[in-house]
Amino acid sequence: MFYLSTRGEAAQRQFDDILLEGLAPDGGLYLPEHYPRFSLDDLRRLQTLSYPELAFEILQPYVEPMDAAALRALVRATYTAEVFGSAEVVRIKPLDARISLLGVSEGPTLAFKDMAMQLLGRLFEQALAKSGQELNILGATSGDTGSAAEYAMRGRRGIRVFMLSPFGKMSPFQTAQMYSLADANIHNIAVQDVFDACQDMVKAVSSDLSFKRTKRIGTINSINWARVVAQVVYYFAGYLRSVRGVGEPLSFAVPSGNFGNILAAHVARQMGLPIHRLVLATNENNVLDEFFRSGVYRPRGTAETHHTSSPSMDISKASNFERYMFDMLGRDSARTRDLFERRLGEQGHFDVSHDPAFSRMQAEIVSGHSNHALRLQTIREVWERSSVMIDPHTADGVAVAHAHLEPGVPMLVVETALPAKFSATLVEAIGQEPQRPAAAESLEQRPQKFVVMKPDVDALKAYIAEHV
Ligand SMILES: *Cc1c(COP(=O)(O)O)cnc(C)c1O
Repeated sequence: MFYLSTRGEAAQRQFDDILLEGLAPDGGLYLPEHYPRFSLDDLRRLQTLSYPELAFEILQPYVEPMDAAALRALVRATYTAEVFGSAEVVRIKPLDARISLLGVSEGPTLAFKDMAMQLLGRLFEQALAKSGQELNILGATSGDTGSAAEYAMRGRRGIRVFMLSPFGKMSPFQTAQMYSLADANIHNIAVQDVFDACQDMVKAVSSDLSFKRTKRIGTINSINWARVVAQVVYYFAGYLRSVRGVGEPLSFAVPSGNFGNILAAHVARQMGLPIHRLVLATNENNVLDEFFRSGVYRPRGTAETHHTSSPSMDISKASNFERYMFDMLGRDSARTRDLFERRLGEQGHFDVSHDPAFSRMQAEIVSGHSNHALRLQTIREVWERSSVMIDPHTADGVAVAHAHLEPGVPMLVVETALPAKFSATLVEAIGQEPQRPAAAESLEQRPQKFVVMKPDVDALKAYIAEHV
């Protein structure tokens, strides 16, 4: 399989070449030159497979020429009962006759990002061992991504993680989850400032190209193609385990921020999975809901970004959205470049409402958004009616899913985090603490390992130089 860029670079790279890369050199995002197709007969054959076997079948065409035996070993080591709590790896949790949750947050950090990140840890380790190189991952986090990355990379050969977080501004649970890791290759850097300052420090270090090169600095961002494709697997698993007969319609509702998770669902559909409709759910940061209603895409500035009770969806621009637009515009890279480079650059927005492609987008993806009160109400209703506790991000998905139910079409809402991660909001909604998975018991009492730093780029560079 060869990969091309949404902004015109020809298909000439393979999976190994793009695995450790961010943006393509032309500023675009990488996509495979085509999507492998699965017929209904193929899907029937997949229906009996275990999760790792299914992952092998879905990933194989994307990673070739990687050795098949190596990929098989990789997915078997990644998707285990030990890491994901059960041999099923992802779980279907019925709420009522029409709506079920797709439980993809059973991994070590209790959010869906583990599904891709755990595989990425092994892929990175293998690629680095092959090239004899090392990688120092530098990132900033306000919660889920940073912890998923640390749990995926802990103890891996050739990899160190330097993760910046805003000192004292994450929930006690999130803080303990990251800072309690004692592995020598994990560096928690607590910055005495807000998240945006952490992100600015990462940008400043990354833009010092000679420092970046000599210290082998890389990132794990949400535009990494391997992350997207690892997420495709659970849409197949969710569909195949839910329908009675392959070919029956099923819709998915996806709580969305950077458009990574729902992009994976779009890819699954392109591969032949009979998804009826995708329901995109946002919180008050409704950039994407606005687009699917109006055809206008207008990223916001940080000043316009709301801090909400579903914080992992508090985004101002959806970094994976360009991939979807490229596909839906007939893979026209000149058009994609015009929209994302020229129009966003010059006008701060673009409008495709009059394009025939936009009606195709609206037929595929419908959308909605929630607010704090609606999330609380949804958490309460689901608890009262189904005795299931859901986290505020999943509540956003359930709330928006209700508005888009269609007769005879079951709905799977992607459970993007477990409620234990957001207990304060659960207490506010239903007056009780959510249950914790056994592995997370007494997390806050464990010893913590982190360094406190002022928002000073030179101090950060000195720390990195000292520890690589
Ligand atoms: C990251 C995250 C999201 C948003 O996913 P995207 O892939 O960015 O759309 C939603 N919910 C939770 C809990 C998350 O951690």
